[in-house]
Parts: sequence; structure tokens; C-alpha cells
Amino acid sequence: MSSPARLLVTRSVFAAIRAHGEETYPNECCGALLGRYTDGVWTVEDAVRAGNTRTDSAHNRYNIAPTELVKIEREARGRGLDIAGFYHSHPDHPAQWSPTDFAEAHWIGCAYMITAVEQGKAAVTNSFLLAGTTEEDKRFEQQAIEVVDCAAG
Ligand SMILES: [Zn+2]
Repeated sequence: MSSPARLLVTRSVFAAIRAHGEETYPNECCGALLGRYTDGVWTVEDAVRAGNTRTDSAHNRYNIAPTELVKIEREARGRGLDIAGFYHSHPDHPAQWSPTDFAEAHWIGCAYMITAVEQGKAAVTNSFLLAGTTEEDKRFEQQAIEVVDCAAG
């Protein structure tokens, strides 16, 4: 099985994710990506903002509370969507995953999107697929983000 080398994101959602990172600067933002999985590719159709529960150092750590995640997942299912992945921002830091990001990533097959926010402005956004089959062989693989105008087609 080959891994999906790309991630489709609707234009409005992509803009909302980047705007979220600008709003919370100099702290990190985080949230969940909701979408549909078709022919081996995720199409992200919505993004849900999550509160950053890490109060110790919100500028370089992020976390979504488990209870909040359960609620997000239930509401997504009600709309025919699944959790496609997660996003967060890296204030004044490159859009590359950190060892902490990797350690805290557990949703294999999902996308982890990172937006670098440089001096308050959203810069590069990258997405990494959490590939593998278990916690032992999981790995991040960069995937191309394709911004699409609408979810259909
Ligand atoms: Zn990070």
C-alpha cells in the first residue's frame, strides 16, 4: 500500500487555519481537521478550533483535551465527516514537526498540518501524514497540500 502523497483542503478551510494561527500569535493555535477519505486521499472540508489546554508554555506546546476531542468527533460523524487530522501553528518557528509533535501524534493515517507564523503573519503551511501501522513503526511523511475550491470533485 502506498501512502497518500497529497492532502486536499478547501480554500476557505485553508484560509481559516492560517488565520487562526495569526490570531493566537505569539501562542500556538490548534484544532482538528474534518473531512472525507475517498480513494486513499483525505479531503478536508472543515476545521474545528480547539482550546490550547497547555498553560505551562502555550507558545511551543499544544494539546487538545480528550473530552473535547470526543465531542468534536461525535459532531463530525453527525455531519458525515471524520477526523482527517490535526493542525497547529509554530510561532516564529519553521513549519516542520518537532520531536514533541511526533511523540504526541497517535492518529495513524491522519494528517498533521503545521503553519509557521512569522511575526504575526502566516507563512509556510506543511502537512505530514502519520504513516505506519503501530506506535512502534509510525513515521511522518510530508504530503503536498492541494487547495481546492469546493469539496466535490
Ligand atoms: Zn509543533
